[in-house]
This record gives sequence, C-alpha cells and structure tokens, in this order.
Amino acid sequence: MGGKPIWILIIAAVLLLIWLAACRRSAKEAGSAGGDGSGLLPVKGAGGRADAAAASADDPSAGDSRPPGASRHAEARRAMVLHQIEQPRDGRTPVRSQAVLEAMRAVPRHAFVPPELEAEAHADCPLPIGHGQTISQPYIVARMTELLGLEPDSKILEIGTGSGYQAAVLAEITPHVYTIEIVEPLAERARTVLREQGYGQVKCRAGDGYLGWEEEAPFDGIIVTCAPEDLPPPLWEQLKPGGRIVIPIGEAHGLQRLELVTKTQDGERRTELVEWVRFVPLTRQQEP
Ligand code: SAH
Repeated sequence: MGGKPIWILIIAAVLLLIWLAACRRSAKEAGSAGGDGSGLLPVKGAGGRADAAAASADDPSAGDSRPPGASRHAEARRAMVLHQIEQPRDGRTPVRSQAVLEAMRAVPRHAFVPPELEAEAHADCPLPIGHGQTISQPYIVARMTELLGLEPDSKILEIGTGSGYQAAVLAEITPHVYTIEIVEPLAERARTVLREQGYGQVKCRAGDGYLGWEEEAPFDGIIVTCAPEDLPPPLWEQLKPGGRIVIPIGEAHGLQRLELVTKTQDGERRTELVEWVRFVPLTRQQEP
C-alpha cells in the first residue's frame, strides 16, 4: 500500500529536474551567443558551435532589414563611433564619411567577436578571434573603409575575412562584397555569422587571397586586412582603372605601411602612405 504512488512521484520529480536543467542550458547558450535578447536567435558561429543549418533558421530577409543583433549594444556602438572614430582626441585623423560612420553604428560588432569577449567588443583595440588571428580595431576598420571611397554600387574584394566584421561594414554600403579567408574554420564561421546578421549577400570564399578572385574581377576597390611584404600582382591586375587598393605592406610582426594605391584611368600606379599600422601577416596556402 502506498509504494506505487511514491515511485511515480520520484520518477516525475527526476524527469522535471532533467527538463529544468536542459532549459537552463539552452537559455545560457542563447544569452552568451549575443542574441537579440528574445532568446530566439540560434547559437552563433562565433562560439564555434553553430552549423549552417542553425544559421539558415534565422532568415535575415524576413521583415526588419536591420541586423538581428543591432538592437543590443546600440549605445556602446554610438559611443565607440563618436569617441574613437568621429572625434578621436589623440591626434588620429577623424573619419568624416557619413556612410562609413552610419555603417559602423549599424553593424553589431559584438556578434563578430567570440562570445566570451562580448563585453570588450567595442574597446579601442583589436581582439583575438582564434587561430592566432584578430578582428581589427574599430578605428582602423572605419579608416580603411573610408579610404576605399565606396559608391553604393561599388564592387569590393576583401582579403582576410577573419571574423567577417569588416565585410559586414562594407556590406552596409554596397551589396557587392566578395571576401576571401585562408583559414577554413574562420571562413566557415564568418559565413555563418554574416548570414545570421543579415549579410547573406556577402560572397565568402575559403582560399588564398594573394591570388584575388579572378572570376569576379575587375573590382572597384580591394581592401587587404593582412600584411604582405609587397602588393600581390594579381590584386593589381584585378583592379579597375580608377579603382583603389587599401593595403598594409611590410614585414610580418613589425610595423607596416598602410598604403592607398590608386590605378589611374590609363593604368598607372599612384601610392600614398596613409599611416603606420600593425596587421597579422598575409600567409600563403601550404602545398598539399
Ligand atoms: N578583416 C578581419 C580581420 C582580419 S585579420 C575582420 O574584420 O575581422 C586578417 C585575416 O587574414 C586573418 O583571418 C588571416 O587568416 C587572413 N589571411 C592571412 N593570409 C591570407 C591569405 N593569403 N588569404 C586570405 N586570408 C588571409
């Protein structure tokens, strides 16, 4: 007498505990992935846990055209743009292009950094993104974007996708963005985050950006976010007359020259030193 109901109660209590634990775990993952607070976003690639199927569940084309992450940290982005980019107080050249400033306010930078660095996402410095690589400092992203002199229909090639953040900033200004990353897991992750955040129109490729993207050439602008020792000839060849390349050039692990290279209408090269910078080196694909 009475033994049966007690067992049923114990089993029900254990099942309830398991269910509660599962709920708590999934809520935690949604939160640390830097979602929009609704808890509906799939886990992001930035944590290395998402796959393409999870990303496609978050259809960026549905409804609101703003990136899903844009509602979070909007004030931090506004302050970042004002104090680091538009009115820096430390002698850096201010970025004046309204299109670039708008783009920097719009792209949810926190979604492109690893979840554990979300609190640092808007700091005035580069941050590690894994595989020994970094997401560039906000100021340098804005400055290089401005130097490209984008028009709303410019066709742009980026070498060094990294987190995908720079590509997203470009995509706020033009729908024709092509980006190449040599570290395959980074390329995959960037593709996922870009799609989740509504930048699915960015064309991503895993490969050696030294060779450019011949099938899609010529480009109005090329931005290189890793440093070669010299301007890769294929990139020069894939630039339209009147186009610009923004590129750090110099030795690995030293200071490099950030150059603005212009191709005149008659194909001549003009090079301007913008400033001294420090980027990760451009590496070449290993022979199989
Ligand atoms: N633009 C990135 C920052 C890139 S860091 C962002 O917004 O996050 C530079 C990136 O260039 C690294 O991810 C590195 O793996 C990549 N890289 C280095 N050599 C390369 C090459 N030959 N082709 C393509 N990508 C390269």
